[in-house]
Amino acid sequence: MKQQLENILNSALAEINCAKTSEDVENIKLNYLSRKGTLNSIKKNLKDLSVEDKRIVGSFANEVAQTLEAKLADKSAEIYRAELAQKLENEKIDVTLSGTAHHEGHLNPLTSTINEIVEIFQGLGFSVMENENSPELETEYVNFDMLNFPPDHPAKDMQDTFYSTVAPNVILRSQTSGAQIREMLVKKPPISVICPGRVYRCEAVSARKNNLFHQIEGLLVDTNITFGDLKGVLNEFIRVYFGEARPTRFRSSYFPFTEPSAEVDVQCIMCGGKGCRVCSGTGWLEVLGSGMVHVNVLKNVGIDPEVYSGFAFGMGVERLAMLKYAIDDIRLFFNNDIRFLKQF
Ligand SMILES: [Zn+2]
Repeated sequence: MKQQLENILNSALAEINCAKTSEDVENIKLNYLSRKGTLNSIKKNLKDLSVEDKRIVGSFANEVAQTLEAKLADKSAEIYRAELAQKLENEKIDVTLSGTAHHEGHLNPLTSTINEIVEIFQGLGFSVMENENSPELETEYVNFDMLNFPPDHPAKDMQDTFYSTVAPNVILRSQTSGAQIREMLVKKPPISVICPGRVYRCEAVSARKNNLFHQIEGLLVDTNITFGDLKGVLNEFIRVYFGEARPTRFRSSYFPFTEPSAEVDVQCIMCGGKGCRVCSGTGWLEVLGSGMVHVNVLKNVGIDPEVYSGFAFGMGVERLAMLKYAIDDIRLFFNNDIRFLKQF
């Protein structure tokens, strides 16, 4: 029986030696030391021995049990340390690996173009109009009639302007010029304001046209304002915006709310006037519309045209940004494609 115990001890020790996981250790414990384990089944046979043998074998069996418990505890600790080391190794952070780049947000090129234009005019003494005088939802009356549009003007056509389906004669403004009317109705000259804002037109969307775009409107009314003042202000704006003094050209034009009216061209910034694809071979780029505030408009808002005169201008922000950054598709501003936006 003692021999049997020695065999058990040896095979258990061999198994403990080979144990790799805490699960192995638990299994050995179960097989040898539990109530149904090998050691206990031997102890059950002690009752058949003499008193003297019972004492000797019993005490040896206890010795075997203690030895095994101690070895299992050591093995358990060893496996725990190994498993912990492995876990730490797996979860180790390599601080020398390159990190995840964080993308810094920045302004849409339209917003920065608006900011830039606004700053140039602020430098020339213009202030930015209050938002309350520049609503995007406008009446047909302010957007057209007060601005001296004749009742049958084609711009009033529902093909060109978005009309509200819930309120009669309410539109999404087709131009920022209505803001001139609102400003002159609440303020008396001298007035010098600019008004950046969104405008809407029924357009088929293409590389050149979007049905939402941005304008910056300018208005200056005071005594003794002449066309020379208009030219001086706009030439200075173009010089600063395009970075150097460039030849400009004031071409006679027609707008219902200004008289005389002029389209302003700047010498093509791509070809320097030689003619290219961007300027359609003309050497000139149209950048804004302008003119002296029409006498009828002044009368409509209660400003005496015998005392005051003024000029107004309007420019498309998308067009100015496209010219400056050589962008050939207006839709890029609105698609929120990060590959486009992060170039600015
Ligand atoms: Zn050109």
